[in-house]
Amino acid sequence: MIYLDHNATTPPAPAVIEAMLPVLSSLWANTSSQHGPGQDAKRALSAARATVARVLGCKPVEVIFTSGATEANHLAVRGLLAAAPPERRRVVFSSIEHAGHLRLARALAQDGYQVDYLPVRGDGTLDLPAAQAMIGPDVALVSLMAANNETGVLMPVAQVAALTQAAGARLHVDATQFIGKQDFDFSRCGADAVSLSAHKLQGPKGVGALLLRQGVSLAPQTLGSQERGRRGGTENLPGIVGLAAALEQLGDITLEAARVAQLRDALEDGLVKALPETYIWCQNVPRLPGTSYLRFGQLSVDVVLQRFERLGIAASSGAACSSGGSEPSHVLTAMGVPADQALAAVRLSLGRTTTQDDVSYVLNKLPAILAPLLHEELLTAP
Ligand code: PMP
Repeated sequence: MIYLDHNATTPPAPAVIEAMLPVLSSLWANTSSQHGPGQDAKRALSAARATVARVLGCKPVEVIFTSGATEANHLAVRGLLAAAPPERRRVVFSSIEHAGHLRLARALAQDGYQVDYLPVRGDGTLDLPAAQAMIGPDVALVSLMAANNETGVLMPVAQVAALTQAAGARLHVDATQFIGKQDFDFSRCGADAVSLSAHKLQGPKGVGALLLRQGVSLAPQTLGSQERGRRGGTENLPGIVGLAAALEQLGDITLEAARVAQLRDALEDGLVKALPETYIWCQNVPRLPGTSYLRFGQLSVDVVLQRFERLGIAASSGAACSSGGSEPSHVLTAMGVPADQALAAVRLSLGRTTTQDDVSYVLNKLPAILAPLLHEELLTAP
């Protein structure tokens, strides 16, 4: 199978599996237990926390392990809002946040917060002047992703951090798609809180972290003594060790990003040459190296993905979490893309396991199978 869905999830790295297996078989004691095996587990937890902190440029106390990015996002937003001054009742989300995160935004509106959405431009980039106008002294929190999961477009976190700081508000950044694909250093990113997820960087599913700047108050959302009282519940030690191993094996991110970007560009160029009806969104703005968001004329994504499946290529229609639904992507809609075009959107996301052979296979097989469909579309167009 040619796997071009790395933004949905990634295959675990061999080093991750190797690190997790002995924890599953031997280090199964509760980290809160006073006996020897419990203390061994506790030491493994501390070691994993130290590794995560070292790779991500934060202090070990700034790492709160969670069940993934969704929980980290919820903990950050609800936790920071509960600790915010009562007169600040406005919350600002970008309009292209992950679908699950936007559900939280709607829940906040129901709870009585005023929720505003930062717009994006037609090219998928954030509308900074609009952000400047929106982030004022009544804002408690701004929540902005570092890179979009559908388009791959990078968000101007440093500029928004400056606006947020000037307004005296908190900044939460969902860096789930960014960390592992681009260089990241928590101490220099300007955010108060940053979410990440292990399974997007060759780690296991069901584990992630919220990085929380030391000294920033956060109200816990699940009560218990673990994680210094900030996130209760017995720790998922195999997952946490897997997350640390995944971060540790990332190596030279810049080099890997250049390799993946070159493969992505070759794929895009090849597709456009073979199928001139191919339209690529966000191609000329800063975006993640492995993400390609495109449509083949206006061929329905369901039809296209059926053909992909036949060729043994795994790809996705925009956000995996909403695939299967017939609603156009909220990200493309925010960019002003008409529904008929948005419903043709295919996301190809390359990653660490993608090779030149994968790209060659797609370019050798796909045009022949899509060309007749595009020809038919041309003939039946009104
Ligand atoms: N945020 C973004 C930007 C994502 O891409 C995802 C995963 N699709 C999530 C949050 C949710 O992550 P998790 O699966 O760890 O809950």
